[in-house]
Amino acid sequence: MSASLPTDLARQLGDDVVYNDAEVLDAHRHDYWVLAHLDDLEGRGAPRPLCVVRPRTVDHVVACVNACRNAGVAIVPAGLRSGVCGGVEAHPERVLLDLSSLDRTRGIDSHNLLGAFDAGKRGIDAEREVEARGLTIGHWPQSIAVSSVGGWVATRASGQFSTANGNIEDIVHTIEAVLADGSTITAGKAPRAAAGPDLRHLLLGSEGTLGIITGVTLALRRKAEAQDYSAYTVPNLTTGFEFQRELVQSGWTPPVMRQYDAVEAQRSFAAHAKPDAGILILVHEGPATRVAAEVTATDALARRCGLGGVDTRAVTDWLDHRNTVPHWRAFLDKRIVVDTAEISASWDRIGAIYDAVIASLNEVPEILNASAHSSHVYRTGLNLYFSFAVRPRDAAEMRVRYLDCWRRIVMATADHGGSIAHHHGIGRLRRDYLELDLGATGVEALRAVKRALDPNDLFNPGVLIPAAAGHPADA
Ligand SMILES: Cc1cc2nc3c(=O)[nH]c(=O)nc-3n(C[C@H](O)[C@H](O)[C@H](O)COP(=O)(O)OP(=O)(O)OC[C@H]3O[C@@H](n4cnc5c(N)ncnc54)[C@H](O)[C@@H]3O)c2cc1C
Repeated sequence: MSASLPTDLARQLGDDVVYNDAEVLDAHRHDYWVLAHLDDLEGRGAPRPLCVVRPRTVDHVVACVNACRNAGVAIVPAGLRSGVCGGVEAHPERVLLDLSSLDRTRGIDSHNLLGAFDAGKRGIDAEREVEARGLTIGHWPQSIAVSSVGGWVATRASGQFSTANGNIEDIVHTIEAVLADGSTITAGKAPRAAAGPDLRHLLLGSEGTLGIITGVTLALRRKAEAQDYSAYTVPNLTTGFEFQRELVQSGWTPPVMRQYDAVEAQRSFAAHAKPDAGILILVHEGPATRVAAEVTATDALARRCGLGGVDTRAVTDWLDHRNTVPHWRAFLDKRIVVDTAEISASWDRIGAIYDAVIASLNEVPEILNASAHSSHVYRTGLNLYFSFAVRPRDAAEMRVRYLDCWRRIVMATADHGGSIAHHHGIGRLRRDYLELDLGATGVEALRAVKRALDPNDLFNPGVLIPAAAGHPADA
């Protein structure tokens, strides 16, 4: 059935929606997962998809879902393919559904503070349109210029201003999605409801496995009246964590609180860092009187905790350059494999996780870097964002070392009671570790939901949900 599907789809949807040319197929083979780039470099990259379908309307999505279901051909949904966990990987027998042209703004409502977008809308474009009306989404993933609003929902993304503004699950108001039977579901219609389980949470973090997200309405904010900054040197990690805990548990909510260990302080804040000390930067935002009060309270607490003051240009420099990062290939070409891994835990566990992960990474042969910073803070705990870099003498070992580093981070985190994924999602990278977070019963419940909503595994096989015992893992 699959051989004729591209032609059938093109007849139904048009040649400007269905693509078969090699250039487009090649460009859509995978997302931004390091391993996909390494595999390309080593000549075993992902194959081309059967075809690329680029819908411009929800009706196009429905037609594609129905045609694929009838033909028994699976769909790999893709936003802007900035995902870093292998959530988008092409397969010669699967349709790649590229949602990037489903990108209209459906409406911006300045009274109720709601912005409605097609799912493929580029994040920065949505933000700029909202900003033109004096508003903001307030969701600033580092990838805002290369990710879609639908992708944010599908991966449970976090933005750099999350400590005050929340993560995507706190910002999303309505999610519209096409299910595997071709029906459309709209979840969320009011600021809050007690009408049974919140079905938005079925789609948040579903990574393309339960439905095709076609529309997202986000709760907006007025742009802040004032912004100010604080920055400190931190003698050791524990002191910085205790300072952050005390600040947020006292009721202050600087949207940005980022604490870097000594290695990262030297690397990213050389002009401001002290040897062997970490650095902590904060952005305060909101009504001017609250911002002033928060800066005063922050400074007083910092003095009590023994933190040293740093020029706030450390913060404004970070703000100016925060989304500039080198491409993985810049490292891979030098035979260095790098990645970042984000986890989270309660305040009483996070220090032990840091120590265990860094110690374990430092046992990896030819490791060049093992470091971390925290960047998303909650009353109950915070995240850690580990970075590692390895340059094996034998370049053929890069893949093995990469997976070993990940295994060490995940296992040390789980052993000490943390969550193995704070905001990048699961994809293929962490799929087989999912039970560490959800437990065996939780994974089985997720499989049951998948079977109920998508009995023929039409949507994104092989992603997020580990294969049941006795079943071969999908590619
Ligand atoms: C440089 C860089 C910085 C990053 N910084 C951050 C950050 O600060 N915070 C953060 O949270 N993430 C970050 N990421 C990761 C990534 O940008 C996010 O996961 C983002 O939400 C993915 O959006 P996307 O549109 O690119 O989705 P894709 O990569 O295309 O897809 C991601 C997953 O969602 C599914 N999916 C996408 N769209 C849909 C849809 N409409 N319907 C159903 N399923 C869908 C895909 O099948 C896939 O499983 C970063 C990535 C890069 C490369």
